[in-house]
Amino acid sequence: MKPLTEQEIRTAFVNCTKGEAKRLAVPRDLAERSWDDLDFLGWRDPQAPDRAYVVTELDGRPVGVQLRTSGAGSWQQRRSMCSVCLTTHTGGVSLMVAPRSGKAGQQGNSVGVYMCSDLACSLYVRGKKDTGVGARLQESLTLEEKIRRTVTNLATFIARVGA
Ligand SMILES: [Zn+2]
Repeated sequence: MKPLTEQEIRTAFVNCTKGEAKRLAVPRDLAERSWDDLDFLGWRDPQAPDRAYVVTELDGRPVGVQLRTSGAGSWQQRRSMCSVCLTTHTGGVSLMVAPRSGKAGQQGNSVGVYMCSDLACSLYVRGKKDTGVGARLQESLTLEEKIRRTVTNLATFIARVGA
């Protein structure tokens, strides 16, 4: 993806208030990220690890969602699959919950997705990071196709947040 500035990131969020977007913890190392290898920028707030953020580009503009992750549960020790990049982990997938944007979110509506806890889907898809629990599913898809699928899965989730 195209490198983003802190300002672009802060204005990208669709499901938090302007005040929250102004205060949220944006990574300090944006300039050093390998943006070419990213389909989205995902990070956790180091001060509040239950808060996670995802920013990607949809139709040429940055779109971000804030997420909450649940605490440890027994399911986390099981082998489970990220529903964005379809990587299988043992204990490395979290349920991420996003308040929906606008009125729906104010009324407490949210949508959830099971996703790599470290939000590094882009790197797993590219084989730049591995889960250490054996091979990925054997798939006949090309890297391009896997990347497209990851992008589509994330876009579908973001659309549910914004719908
Ligand atoms: Zn993933």
